Amino acid sequence: MSIAFTAGKKNFPTADTTDSATFCAPVSTLCHTSPGNRNPVWTDSGHDGPVQARYRLTFPAVKPRIIRKRGGSRNPYAAGGRFSNMGTKKSKRTQPVGRTGDDGSTRADPTRIQTKIIDDVFTDAVEMVKPRFELDYSAYLDRLWQANPEIHRLLRQSEDLEAAREAIYTYLEKAERKIFEIDNDFHILEKATVRESIRAFKSIIGPINEHRTGVSALGHLWKLARPEEGSTGKDVSVGFLLEFINLFRGVAGQSNIYFETKEAKKGIPDFLLKEGKLASETRTEILDDMGATVSKYLKRYPSGLDPDVQNWRRENKSRILKYFKADEADWKNPSWQLRHVIRDAKPLFDLIELTSGQKEAVEKAVAHHIPFGITPYYLSLMDRQLAIGYDHAVRAQVIPPPEYVEMMAEHRKDRSVIFDFMGEHDTSPIDLITRRYPGIAILKPFNTCSQICVYCQRNWEIDEVLDPKAMASTEQIESAIAWLKAHRSIGDILITGGDPCVMKDESFRRLLARVAAIEHVYRIRIGTRTPVVLPMRWTERLADILAEFHDPGRREVCVVTHVEHPYEITPDTLEAVQNIRRRGISIYNQQVFTIENSRRYESAKLRLDLRQVGIDPYYTFNMKGKEETRRYMVPIARILQERKEEARLLPGLDRTDEPVFNVPKLGKNHLRSWQDHRLVMILPDGSRVYEFHPWEKNIHPTPPYNYIDVPIYDYLEELASRGENLRDYRTIWFYY
Ligand code: SF4
Repeated sequence: MSIAFTAGKKNFPTADTTDSATFCAPVSTLCHTSPGNRNPVWTDSGHDGPVQARYRLTFPAVKPRIIRKRGGSRNPYAAGGRFSNMGTKKSKRTQPVGRTGDDGSTRADPTRIQTKIIDDVFTDAVEMVKPRFELDYSAYLDRLWQANPEIHRLLRQSEDLEAAREAIYTYLEKAERKIFEIDNDFHILEKATVRESIRAFKSIIGPINEHRTGVSALGHLWKLARPEEGSTGKDVSVGFLLEFINLFRGVAGQSNIYFETKEAKKGIPDFLLKEGKLASETRTEILDDMGATVSKYLKRYPSGLDPDVQNWRRENKSRILKYFKADEADWKNPSWQLRHVIRDAKPLFDLIELTSGQKEAVEKAVAHHIPFGITPYYLSLMDRQLAIGYDHAVRAQVIPPPEYVEMMAEHRKDRSVIFDFMGEHDTSPIDLITRRYPGIAILKPFNTCSQICVYCQRNWEIDEVLDPKAMASTEQIESAIAWLKAHRSIGDILITGGDPCVMKDESFRRLLARVAAIEHVYRIRIGTRTPVVLPMRWTERLADILAEFHDPGRREVCVVTHVEHPYEITPDTLEAVQNIRRRGISIYNQQVFTIENSRRYESAKLRLDLRQVGIDPYYTFNMKGKEETRRYMVPIARILQERKEEARLLPGLDRTDEPVFNVPKLGKNHLRSWQDHRLVMILPDGSRVYEFHPWEKNIHPTPPYNYIDVPIYDYLEELASRGENLRDYRTIWFYY
């Protein structure tokens, strides 16, 4: 590894799993990530600058897709689920359709009713299973042109691509002017959708964006409208067509977002026409309805604080203790937990039910020495039987999917380069330090954790769970401290790794003392996942160590953790968090927004449960970049939709997190700042390409970054396979 965390560590005390005070800390800002390294592009200018992408975007050939039945498994591990290639998991709540091969492929059963996507909803249709393109292509095309016959006419009449561009720009400009006229009958809010849709469409057909991405969505549309030009009809996916069906409707003021309710149809709602108590009562009825909807959804996501879940987990704990011939005192001892971290397949297979695909992936991970480990405590959060099915996020955190194992095995030797999506090699001025902001630096003294998260951002540098070579050498640490001393604008130090709370108490204390002694350091953040995966690590002694350096008015010490799902929050987490907070130390959460916590109100429930135990939501990270964990990814449009339609319904103190996209080498782009990103292209497979502007835009000239997202269609299809009603997500297409 080019950043030599593991080389030559001698003098600084090292992790020792036989001693009670060893162990780790996760990485707050960075330790969590994402999948999908799909030819990211740095562009050399902003909207209008010179046009020379350093790399030209390429996109994978569009593959025929197998469709799945609506109302199929809610369970990601069940047939048809995203994790179906781990094998088949049957759930009482699910009715899997199709068969799943252990090779990871989904093989639909041709005798069953299959699903096709028409517009923004899945509808059932009795059809033989065919690749997606063959299935409904003409139906989708019909819908595309019905969505905006005028655009179809213009494309058909255009003799070449440039004529089509001219015609569409003229049409869009007229449409834009129309919404500013007094005499139009759009709903006032629909006008906003029209404006946004026009803005997106203009950007997509811009020659500069075609040049930068190497793709012309307009060219595909033009060919589709003129079959005589030789289009095979298979150049673009259904996901591509659905993007444009919705965009065409948006441009025409027919998104239908606002005309669904009687209230909206009436125009001015009743409560605004009334006054005083009468108005308040009418408004209250509306708010009660909204509140009831929220409550209905929240009930779908039990936390580990629910009495039923606590009972199941007591049984889990007994079973695990019996297996290891241990007792309650052992369970509470962090050293015992660390000595019994599950690193092999057998104990896992003996203790919980796994699909055949999961078993195969774990065996392969162990055989190829891919970092793998689960604390007994975290194992107790998994449902013993697959049929229970609430533990999807817990399993997904530590049980690697097959393609992850394959990619990690294939790139064992060059992983430090291949998987460094955030470009930390280029943002590390000295060993152990990463810097992306003027006032903040990351210090990584300890390069391992008490267990290994599958979608760890640092999977390119963590060698193994509880790696005995994980501690940086005294020389490395002293050099890093000297570097921090010399850079006086850095006042906020994030100590992460790896997980620094897996270090021995005294090693950890000495490190904190060295950092706290730097005169200009006014905050030390500890990035650790221990409150979630090893809460018993939070002894009085460890909390006291933090408190020793927490000096209000002079220096703050705080903890940043990573809870992904309400199901991870337990009475033990509550106790650990309160132990920290009793010392006046704050604790914040960084969630990664993945397929496992992105269903309707799932993250809202997480925020509420976090606050219940004393953790403040801090960041919600979009997953990005890493192909080996692509299956976890959620489109950016969904994170924006969640923020607007779900998080917004919570009280302000519950939704304190900021949704962000981490731009490689640069750092966080706030997704709510619409002026800092824009849609520039839709690729034939339905992926959106976004241009992200650097956080220091307007301060320092740094080029934007182009990012290829996962197709919305693919995400919706996955949700459908988990039993979601896609009408709940129908507005997703209008978030750009
Ligand atoms: S493996 Fe360690 S560093 Fe990576 S996400 Fe998990 S806790 Fe953070």
